[in-house]
Amino acid sequence: MSVKADPCSQPSLMHPDQAIPLLLEQVSPVSDTEVVLLPHALGRVLAEDLAACIDLPPFDNSSMDGYALRFADLNTQTNQTSLRPIGSSFAGHGFQGEAKPNTCVRIMTGAPLPVGYDTVQMQEEAEVDGEIVHIRHPKAQGANVRCRGEELTQGTKVLNAGIQIGAAELGVLATIGASQVRVYRQLKVAFFSTGDELRPVGSELAPGQIYDSNRYSIQGLLKRANVEWLDLGVIADDPEAIRQAFRHAASQADMVLTSGGVSVGEADFTKQVLDEEGQITFWKLAIKPGKPFAMGKIGKAVFCGLPGNPVSSMVTFYKLVWPILQKMQGLTPVAPLMLNATLSTPIRKSSGRVEYQRGILSRNAQGELEVAITGSQGSGMLTSMSLANCLVLLEQFQGDTAVGTQVTVEPFNSVLC
Ligand code: AMP
Ligand code: MG
Repeated sequence: MSVKADPCSQPSLMHPDQAIPLLLEQVSPVSDTEVVLLPHALGRVLAEDLAACIDLPPFDNSSMDGYALRFADLNTQTNQTSLRPIGSSFAGHGFQGEAKPNTCVRIMTGAPLPVGYDTVQMQEEAEVDGEIVHIRHPKAQGANVRCRGEELTQGTKVLNAGIQIGAAELGVLATIGASQVRVYRQLKVAFFSTGDELRPVGSELAPGQIYDSNRYSIQGLLKRANVEWLDLGVIADDPEAIRQAFRHAASQADMVLTSGGVSVGEADFTKQVLDEEGQITFWKLAIKPGKPFAMGKIGKAVFCGLPGNPVSSMVTFYKLVWPILQKMQGLTPVAPLMLNATLSTPIRKSSGRVEYQRGILSRNAQGELEVAITGSQGSGMLTSMSLANCLVLLEQFQGDTAVGTQVTVEPFNSVLC
């Protein structure tokens, strides 16, 4: 592994692991809550602990299609017992009678276990012979019975405040009969792109112009992050236009998110405007793509300024803004899943910054994880993101890295997929 110097590797650059807690210190979770109906609860953050208001399951029932019987009636010496069927218990329509010695009841999966029976013999181990059911290989008492309350008893906590409601949680809520749930208010994020060169899709490009792609990729990320999104379009590189856009955005949203205009070019007016209208700090982070990242306040809104380069804006969103949004939503930001994989293409890297190169993670013929880099890694090449299914994390002082080296990868999660 050879190590070259990188002009950006000034000692003042902060490692992202050090910066993230400091960025998080600057924001607080929303406190307002609202009640939403279950079909609208997906992705929302639960605002209260929830306890089961019923036992789960609510009644003893069968986990198999078979025969409900009294274990005491079985001849466990001979492994053969003959029982007389006296009725049926269907899911939703239980058997109404009572158990009698040497009888059984035909029972379906999910049907209530009739009173007096304690065991279910699966139908594959029973043989019907006219009016008699022969039971073979009896199992233990209680076999194939799901007992009332075996998963949860009434009053037990099922979900903790501060979790994000996913598909499984929706099901859990429905299982305990919750038709609505108290969640934190959804965050509202206002976004605008800055740049005289940017044109909206659907328009013709004049020389020197490009389409505004960040507004769409960031919109995708915000939707996946489950926040409400306010699209303020493209704002020209003009201090007055940027000032008006900031004022409008801050009056509408919890976070104002922008892309472009946070470097030190002559047309980068964000700093000038925010110095007058709010506060802004430029974070010189040792990450690539991504430097610089701006954060501040305008009115009551948090401001995050992403770099304009399309890959940089997505990666800084994912690594820095997403944890900030999680905290503001009432969630606890969690560290991404990291795996080790063998590098199958060489990596070029200068020492000095943590790099998130875009990779394709797969299993090779031996069943081992390997990762290939998605070709050129220019911070303007958005196809490197769309081809990828993971980020390859290369540490700050790592240099060029050879095929066969073990590297750390972060598979894309639900926000990036
Ligand atoms: P900036 O951060 O404004 O200096 O922009 C850096 C680079 O990203 C320039 O090449 C811009 O043209 C490009 N860029 C900025 N904003 C966008 C955008 N919304 N969509 C696509 N490219 C952009
Ligand atoms: Mg610009």
